[in-house]
Parts: sequence; structure tokens; C-alpha cells
Amino acid sequence: MLSEKVTNVLQEQINKELFSAYLYLDFAGFYTKSGLNGFASWYVKQAKEEFEHAEKIISYLADNGIRPIYEAIDKPNEKLENIEDPLHAGLRHEQYVTESINTCYKTADMEKDYRTMQFLDWFVKEQLEEEKNAEDLLDQYAFAKDSKAALYMMNADLGNRK
Ligand code: MG
Repeated sequence: MLSEKVTNVLQEQINKELFSAYLYLDFAGFYTKSGLNGFASWYVKQAKEEFEHAEKIISYLADNGIRPIYEAIDKPNEKLENIEDPLHAGLRHEQYVTESINTCYKTADMEKDYRTMQFLDWFVKEQLEEEKNAEDLLDQYAFAKDSKAALYMMNADLGNRK
């Protein structure tokens, strides 16, 4: 049985993961429009992963007999003008999600809900990966930005993400 507090933070986390998917689709749209289809495809895949994160929490709630409440998803409103804008916004966003996962973890800890803490371990680890990916993109872009050939290669490389 999950406590009300734990249930609430997990419900909110579902919304945040779905918003992440929405945000990354917006980034993908920006890159498609900018002619960088590899960047766009990378973010479409990222959006699908975010949807899977939401699904993991949905199944966990279901396993605990709870039907999730789906609140409205915010409109992505990052101002995207330069090629690197989504990369910065992406890193900021993942840092925010990490904080949010930490809040879920802390809430479970305060409620002595060891089962949920164990469930959240996967997310704690995943956030390290997500922040690292976002930082890597910024590093790669820092190398590529002054050369059309290098940017073209980065774009092709991102298009190959599995
Ligand atoms: Mg996520």
C-alpha cells in the first residue's frame, strides 16, 4: 500500500516524464525546421524514452492497485533560436528532473517506503545517464560548431542513435 504522499509525488513524476517527451518533440521540430534531421531524430528517440519512463511509473502504480490521474501537460515554451539552444535547455531540464526524482526518493524515505525507494533506484541511475548525455551533446557541439563539415558529421552521428 502506497501512502498518499508517495502516490502524489509519483503521479507528478508521470506528468513530468510526459512533459519531457513533449519538450523533446518540440526540440525535434526545431531541428527538423533547421535542416538538422540527425539532431531531430535523436530527440524523437529521447522523447520515446521519456514516454517509457512514464510507463514504468504507471505500471508501478498499477502493481500497487492505483489508477493514475492524468493532469494536463504543459506547453513547451523554451525559446529556441540558435542550434545550441535546445542542448542547453535539455541539460537544464534533466537537472530539474534529477531534483524531482530526488524529491520522490526523499518522500519515500520519509514514509519508510523501502519498496518505492528500490523502484526509484533505476531512475536515480538513469538520471546520471541523462545528464551525461546532455553534457556530451554540448561538448560535441562545442567542437563542431565552427566547421560545417564537423557539424554535418555530428548530425549524421546523432541520426544513428539506436
Ligand atoms: Mg525521464
